[in-house]
Amino acid sequence: MEIKKATYLISSPAVDKCPKADRPEYAFIGRSNVGKSSLINMLCNNQKLAKTSASPGKTQSINHFTIESSVREKGPVERWYLVDLPGYGYAKIDQSSRRRWEQMIEGYLRKRENLVNVFVLIDARHMPQKIDLEFVNQLGHWEVPFTIVFTKADKEKPAVVERHVKAFLDAMRETWQFLPASVVTSATKKTGKDEILTQIAGMNLG
Ligand code: GDP
Repeated sequence: MEIKKATYLISSPAVDKCPKADRPEYAFIGRSNVGKSSLINMLCNNQKLAKTSASPGKTQSINHFTIESSVREKGPVERWYLVDLPGYGYAKIDQSSRRRWEQMIEGYLRKRENLVNVFVLIDARHMPQKIDLEFVNQLGHWEVPFTIVFTKADKEKPAVVERHVKAFLDAMRETWQFLPASVVTSATKKTGKDEILTQIAGMNLG
């Protein structure tokens, strides 16, 4: 699948303010600075679409992009939403902003009826971080389908990335019998793009 057109639509402060749930939707989330904007821009072939962290922690809203994609060059066009969710783990966030983020994210993840899958971004440079494990475990408890996307793989040797991926999945195995799909990516080297888009196409058409 290839994304032909990606356009920013709207930023919403809560799930009940989001656009009409009239097409499939895929959301992206992760710790601040994990490489979410870079990944979204890579997927959409548009380096200016999602803003790369100019002011971390500022965007506390649910950002919808309308997407037109096609599986074959002259095939039919599929329309769906890509959603850029505000990240977690900012160092300087105050209690009330954190609480607001939690309520917004929980409301969105549990109530958005057209949400097909969440892509949770994990920095491939690190051993499992508590905050990421807590987040994916929460998604599991809410029964929200998700994929784990390891980012910035170009920054480490492949063997190190592999060790971090394994450690994260092993840590998840302590809580869950079945593990979600995972993808290793690099926005710099443009790796993992086809894998993510193929997953979306499979879920969209399947
Ligand atoms: P966000 O805060 O999660 O949206 O993260 P950004 O996309 O803004 O990326 C944070 C920083 O990591 C920026 O300096 C990016 O250039 C860098 N970055 C993002 N993805 C990659 C990657 O795949 N490889 C490398 N080497 N750097 C990356």
